Amino acid sequence: MARERLYLFDTTLRDGAQTNGVDFTLNDKLAITKMLDDLGIDYVEGGYPGANPTDTQLFAEARELDATFTAFGMTRRPGRSTSNDPGLAALLEAKADAICFVAKSWDYHVRVALETTEEENLASIRDSVRAAKAKGREVLLDCEHFFDGYKANPRYALACAEAAYDEGARWVVLCDTNGGALPHEVEAIVGEVVKVIPGDHVGIHAHNDTEQAVANSLAAVRAGARQIQGTLNGLGERCGNANLVSIIPTLKLKPEFAEKFEIGISDDKLKGLAHASHTLDEMLNRAPNRHAPYVGESAFVTKAGIHASAIMKDPATYEHVPPSTVGNRRKLLVSDQAGRSNVLAELDRIGIRVDKDDPRIALLLDEVKEREAIGYAYEAADASFDLLARRILGQVPNYFSVEQFDVNVEQRNNAVGQRVTVSLAVVKVRVDGETMISAAEGNGPVHALDLALRKDLGKYQGYINGLELTDYRVRILNGGTEAVTRVLIESQDETGERWTTVGVSPNIIDASFQALMDSIVYKLVRSNAPA
Ligand SMILES: [Zn+2]
Repeated sequence: MARERLYLFDTTLRDGAQTNGVDFTLNDKLAITKMLDDLGIDYVEGGYPGANPTDTQLFAEARELDATFTAFGMTRRPGRSTSNDPGLAALLEAKADAICFVAKSWDYHVRVALETTEEENLASIRDSVRAAKAKGREVLLDCEHFFDGYKANPRYALACAEAAYDEGARWVVLCDTNGGALPHEVEAIVGEVVKVIPGDHVGIHAHNDTEQAVANSLAAVRAGARQIQGTLNGLGERCGNANLVSIIPTLKLKPEFAEKFEIGISDDKLKGLAHASHTLDEMLNRAPNRHAPYVGESAFVTKAGIHASAIMKDPATYEHVPPSTVGNRRKLLVSDQAGRSNVLAELDRIGIRVDKDDPRIALLLDEVKEREAIGYAYEAADASFDLLARRILGQVPNYFSVEQFDVNVEQRNNAVGQRVTVSLAVVKVRVDGETMISAAEGNGPVHALDLALRKDLGKYQGYINGLELTDYRVRILNGGTEAVTRVLIESQDETGERWTTVGVSPNIIDASFQALMDSIVYKLVRSNAPA
């Protein structure tokens, strides 16, 4: 049976940019546009040309995309002609494939907010759609407050949608602007709309104010809508927009949708979803939501021992979809509650072969428990766990040792008389019976230490040249009698592989040193460097 095409419209860069604390630069916008295009999103809404310099610049040049690059803006202002509205003129000049207009569809808003007549609002919709069509653009109309408007005055809300459709708009998008609609209401109202406007011209734009934006989007599709608007990670003002990162795998993996609909995202691209989600968080300098459905770090984590042993027999016992389909992975937590089966499964996952009755398993388990009690977090630092296990199993060669290090922080005037703070680290390393001393300056003590440590490791230098520190997170833990610092370091190598290491100490430099050392040694182990 031929599946019907369902279109995805991303508004991360427009509605998502309304999020408190989010401020995209032009480069951010270009990078996110590329990421969305690579993923296979049908429409990428870049912003609102004319509203701010970044968006104006974004639309000043044509962007080569597979996706339909869309500019957002208002319909012509009431009482003006299309040729006498600078806002509309800027929108029509934007180098975009499509224009998404927003217009009121709630009679109350037309009277109170817009202070115009119902008829003038309809005329504005018709004129704007016509003007954009004349410019050769694909046209969409976002019907603002559609669901609230429909509940108050169905005749008028529908008239707004029909005005755009009759004038040739490709899509009429029904917006739950205040985010208060519930799935059964959305399904019923969209069901009425598609009696008048064909469903393959109807879209849904849901906000998440009752945590139903995803459910509302799916309800609209069930009722006949064929375009879903949303954002990556549900970014958006207040409680956010419909989260495409949850919607996409649901459409791809849940038979009710997968058997009926086709979307522009291939099975292969779906595997990049977790990465896309995390990349956006990284750009926004936010910690990814561990508990995000499908893509969160905890989405496929099993903690209790009894679940872990069942999941090893058959993953389907505790997983609703295979984690690899969305680029996530199964994780059995090695933590306080860990049983033997968790440790064995984790060793198996990272490729360490060991007999399940090996007495050293108990040793490893004790070591993990003891260390976690003082602040180590192995569930977040897989590479440090890997090393700990290999050390207990005698699989980590003594590549090199650090005999001494010294880190200095100094504030002084530089050559041009500016006040600067510089850090200098000196490291004394012993490799192959030879002592080497390296020094490096950095913008902070940890940076300097990292540079000095990796400056000269003799015969191992070739293995770590591509090593790069990509993230550094510090937490102060209040355990026992004194505060301790936990440092998590994320590293990356030339192949793009990433890993995280951990260090714990009352001293932040010492905690960082442990994590840096683990990262280097892990890389040597991974590269099969000779002892
Ligand atoms: Zn919105």
